[in-house]
Amino acid sequence: MIRVNGRSYRLAHQPTVVVCVDGCEPDYIVQSVAHGHTPWMKEVLTSGTVLTADCVIPSFTNPNNLSIVTGVPPSVHGICGNYLFDVATDTEMMMNDPKWLRAPTILAELANAGQSVAVVTAKDKLRKLLGHGMKGVCFSAEKADEATLEENGIDEVVELVGMPVPSVYSAELSEFVFAAGVELMSHERRPDVMYLSTTDYVQHKHAPGTEDADAFYRMMDGYLGKLDAMGCVIALTADHGMNAKTRMDGAPDVLYLQDVLDAWLGAGQTRVILPITDPYVVHHGALGSFATVYLPKGADVAALSARIAAIRGVDSVRSREEAAAFFELPADRIGDLVVVAERSTVIGTSASRHDLSGLDVPLRSHGGVSEQRVPLIVNRKVKGVDLDRRFRNFDAFDLVLNHVD
Ligand SMILES: [Zn+2]
Repeated sequence: MIRVNGRSYRLAHQPTVVVCVDGCEPDYIVQSVAHGHTPWMKEVLTSGTVLTADCVIPSFTNPNNLSIVTGVPPSVHGICGNYLFDVATDTEMMMNDPKWLRAPTILAELANAGQSVAVVTAKDKLRKLLGHGMKGVCFSAEKADEATLEENGIDEVVELVGMPVPSVYSAELSEFVFAAGVELMSHERRPDVMYLSTTDYVQHKHAPGTEDADAFYRMMDGYLGKLDAMGCVIALTADHGMNAKTRMDGAPDVLYLQDVLDAWLGAGQTRVILPITDPYVVHHGALGSFATVYLPKGADVAALSARIAAIRGVDSVRSREEAAAFFELPADRIGDLVVVAERSTVIGTSASRHDLSGLDVPLRSHGGVSEQRVPLIVNRKVKGVDLDRRFRNFDAFDLVLNHVD
């Protein structure tokens, strides 16, 4: 047994894989199964354990991937966005550096206990966080050709996988992750525990049940079937769901909150931070359904909250303390207000700061409570768990390590 962040885990006694399918709204699975594209998943839906779980809010990639690999919410591990305002240095910055991580990962502790561990992620932005303090294999599809034994615990990845390094904006970037996972499991260095994390490029562009979405899940199903045939215990979950964020004319339904606050209080008085921001914004224009706001000293927090809450498209406004408690966030890394938009609305800073020219299809995005529900599926029957309780996506390692024979 190991104990990590207050939870106990048995060591893996059979090859165990946890997959985070980025942006996997449960309906993607419903539709691809209904359309006959995913025979492995169809079988698992009857022979395995099929749950829905809640991801952490903000329903963004980094906070949720880190919750899955630490087993705890952002209030414990510290990663509350892809991007933050660092009060100490008065700068906005990416949250990719492991210096922001406040908790060890289950993966690192399994490796410390002598297990062989492998991590494959689509985008490189997650690699250093997921692999922090971990002995083992850890690389991204995006930079697979740069992997070295010293830095990544493996080299010649492109030769191993037999696929060229895909574009960062492609379905193939995720396929590379699955193909690498199958190759790693087929070799002598077969890991005891493997974590695979894809990218939501397809989900940002294609709704459940559409041809491209179904093709993506058909691709994934083939690889998961191979891992299952090798005897792997597999848990599949997601970092967040995905919804259309448009008006009826198909244009993005955006609340430019910085523009609103500048009009109310004057320019430079407040700072709206969008934790969805990352270097890869072409497919979502850095627009999601969650924002945090820094206010000037002495601002009337209650009055401003009420005023923002009355804007069309706003779902909730909470003070720092309320949001930290309700969403389990680190209070020192969020602003004075946390604003969550409704299902079809996204929050921007200023209209002039968002480049929407890359949006070639109606906007689909995430970040809010409306994208909190995700699949939590295990290819075996789990035992000793009340299946009617609320599950979180970060229960995935508990289920596969502690509740599968
Ligand atoms: Zn994501």
